[in-house]
Amino acid sequence: MNKEEFIKALKCLNINITEKQLMDLDTYYKMLIEYNTHVNLTRITEEKEVYLKHFYDSLTLVKVINLNNQTLLDIGTGAGFPGLVLKIMFSNLKVTLLDSLNKRITFLNAVIEKLNLKDVTIVHGRAEEYAKDNKEKFDIVTSRAVANLNTLSELSIPFVKIGGCFIAMKADAKEEIKNAQIAIKTLGGVIKENVVFELPYENAARSLIKIEKKYKTSVKYPRKFSEIKKKPL
Ligand code: SAM
Repeated sequence: MNKEEFIKALKCLNINITEKQLMDLDTYYKMLIEYNTHVNLTRITEEKEVYLKHFYDSLTLVKVINLNNQTLLDIGTGAGFPGLVLKIMFSNLKVTLLDSLNKRITFLNAVIEKLNLKDVTIVHGRAEEYAKDNKEKFDIVTSRAVANLNTLSELSIPFVKIGGCFIAMKADAKEEIKNAQIAIKTLGGVIKENVVFELPYENAARSLIKIEKKYKTSVKYPRKFSEIKKKPL
């Protein structure tokens, strides 16, 4: 997806990108490529591929949620996908980017400083640990390519405010959804919708699984990661 195609595709998502936002994404892309030579950030490096599989893909979240003036936590953000791209495009979004790998945190800090972005909190840590003091705190929690939906639900749903939602960004997820039914219910969530579509030019399947938080999560969750793995809900 070249830049013209990117701008066009965003219009179909009802996003009108400004010159400044295009420049910021260009800076972000250049820094990603530069840091990627010494820190493992992404396998995808060709510009057209980054615009499609990282930038555009991150922004497809708008298909299921209004991001204006919300607080959003991105769990396992890596090099900032989707959280940092969303922040660049929605300036009044209050974003927290969480990742357990410090090298990725260093990169995120550098981009945020360079682009002079406000209302971005970067946290180096594991979701299970960070949850201890941050339960029911965010309007929206999202995550892409971190864990299967069952595990991810336990890592994510505890952070969501009642009435807020967790949106898992997945490829084809029918099986995962089946296997996560009990976990989602146990954690206080309800699946509202699963929006399935294809990434343009690629015809790769995508699913946005939107889970609404209906009830407070028991203080038992999330458990230690070893327990989540050993005894999935
Ligand atoms: N979300 C990004 C994307 O889609 O490009 C990164 C995906 S990468 C495959 C998974 C990331 O999740 C890694 O950066 C890893 O450090 C982080 N991660 C895995 N488990 C985590 C946990 N329990 N808490 C916080 N970060 C975690």
